[in-house]
Parts: sequence; structure tokens; C-alpha cells
Amino acid sequence: MTLVEYFPTVLNTVHTSFGKMVEDELKRHGVEVHSGTAVDKIQQNGERLLLTGSSGFSATGNLVLVAAGAKPESEIAKGAGILLNPQGAIKVNQFMETNIPNIYAAGDCVETWHQLLQKNVYMPLGTTAHKQGRVAGENAVGGKREFQGSLGTQVVKVFDLAIARTGLREEEARQAGYDPLTVSFETWDHKVYYPGAHPFNIRVTADVNTKAILGAQIIGHYQGEVAKRIDIFATAIFHRMSVEQLNDLDLSYTPPLSSPWDPVQMAVQAWSKQLNKTG
Ligand SMILES: Cc1cc2nc3c(=O)[nH]c(=O)nc-3n(C[C@H](O)[C@H](O)[C@H](O)COP(=O)(O)OP(=O)(O)OC[C@H]3O[C@@H](n4cnc5c(N)ncnc54)[C@H](O)[C@@H]3O)c2cc1C
Repeated sequence: MTLVEYFPTVLNTVHTSFGKMVEDELKRHGVEVHSGTAVDKIQQNGERLLLTGSSGFSATGNLVLVAAGAKPESEIAKGAGILLNPQGAIKVNQFMETNIPNIYAAGDCVETWHQLLQKNVYMPLGTTAHKQGRVAGENAVGGKREFQGSLGTQVVKVFDLAIARTGLREEEARQAGYDPLTVSFETWDHKVYYPGAHPFNIRVTADVNTKAILGAQIIGHYQGEVAKRIDIFATAIFHRMSVEQLNDLDLSYTPPLSSPWDPVQMAVQAWSKQLNKTG
């Protein structure tokens, strides 16, 4: 199997160092990875398909799967006079109302309120679609519920790795007017003396002035509670917690599963240390 990626590393929703680890995992399982490569052409070549691209890339195959992002399918809405944003996503307010009374919209076809950015973005996710759908449904039958916004929390499994993120990356936070500092921290998913411990990498971004957590990314073994840990960060960000407040949380521990300081707490401690060094 050959994977061709336009960006410098695969999975460009996370930091390139994490993308590189994902590439290594793919290669370890026999996938040929060509990152930083643009596919220009797919053509029939006898019984097979021939792909060609930048830097002299070429490969043949029986099947080509194109996964180059999601676009909202909003033609019917447009035809009905419903307003769309420049990306073609249906404009909605936090009640999931469109500009036409009694027409609600939710899911991959709409723009989504971003909790930290305090503006609408296009960020299609199943988790978001479910929440928006419930809000739209409730309001369509007379309710008055508001969609509380998304942080883009997501997790994906690639062979033995799980990779997750929530909130903003450093450059996104800076563009949004925050003063972000990001610290990369490596530990183990549980006590290293207990069999089966795996490396666990966390990148945490927080605001230098307010110490509010703005984002986190995690990569680790898929049995290492990556999703649980990113959800702790997501909960903290959702409720505007600072690094100290996350550090003070009463989180669970037993050696096969964690450490007395959970990795998320060790990561924010590393963040505070780095701030003290640089600040
Ligand atoms: C491969 C893949 C993996 C994913 N994994 C995750 C994940 O792990 N986590 C996550 O959070 N999200 C994931 N997502 C995203 C998630 O699936 C979508 O965000 C979610 O399904 C969107 O829900 P929806 O109801 O808006 O749209 P859909 O689930 O696409 O449902 C829309 C439905 O409308 C129907 N339809 C379209 N046009 C018409 C029409 N004219 N008349 C009648 N019916 C129509 C379609 O057939 C479809 O059944 C994944 C998506 C893909 C493609």
C-alpha cells in the first residue's frame, strides 16, 4: 500500500513531530509513505491505474482512494434561499436556525461555533453533528437550547498508535490573539515498572498571561488511554481552566493504568516549569 500526502507529514491536524511518528508507524506496517508530494494525475495504464506527481513521484495500483478533505453538500439549501458561508456551509446561529424561520440545520453541512475562537468555522465531526442535531431537533419542536460550541476534539487510531487533539495549535492560538506557549512532554502511559508501559507524548499549549489551557495533542499506544487523556484536556478547556487548576484535579491512579500524577498533570507541570524558565 502506498500513501501519498501533500503536506510535509501525514495527519497535518497535529504537529509535524507527531505526524512523523505516525509515518514511522505506517512504514513499520509495510505502508510506503510519500509525504510532501502532490498527485497531479491518475490515468488508466492497461489493467492498472498510474499515479504521477511532484518530485518525479509515480506508482501503479488497482485501486486509488482519494481522501482530500470534506466539503458541505448544501445545494438544496442554497436553492431554498438559505445563506451559506464562503466554504458553502450553511450559516446557522447557536440555536441551529438558518436564516429562514423554522428551518434548522446541523452536522457536516453547517458551520460550527468554535468555543475558543468565539466564531463559526467549518469543522465537520460526528461528535459535533450529534450535539447540533439534538439542539436543532429540540428547538424545532419548541425548545430553546443553544449549541455550546466545539473545540475540535478528535482521536484517530493508526495501527498501534492513537493520536488525539483538542483546542488550538500554537499558531492558531497566536492568530486568534492569544499569547501561547507550547511544551512537548514525554512520559509513560502508566507506571513504567508495571508491564506493558508505552511512551506517551503530550504537547500542551496555554496562554502565557492567563495560564488558560488552549490546546493539547497526544500520541501514544492505542491501549494507553489517549482518548481519556485528551478528554481531560477538552473538559478543562471547555470550562476555561488554567494549567494550575488542571494540575489540582483529583484524577484516578493505579500502576497498570496511570501514575499518581496523571500524564496530563505532568505535562502541565512541565509547561509551568518552562514558563518559569523563559518568563
Ligand atoms: C471514514 C470516516 C470516518 C469518520 N470517523 C469519525 C470519527 O471517528 N469521529 C468523528 O467524530 N467523526 C468521524 N467522521 C465524521 C462523521 O462521520 C460525520 O461528521 C457525521 O457522520 C456527520 O453527520 P451528518 O448527519 O451531518 O451527515 P451524514 O452522516 O453524512 O448523514 C447525512 C445523510 O443524509 C443523506 N442524504 C444526503 N442527501 C440527501 C437527500 N437529498 N435526501 C435525503 N437524504 C440525503 C445521506 O445519504 C446520509 O445518510 C468520519 C467520517 C468518515 C467519512
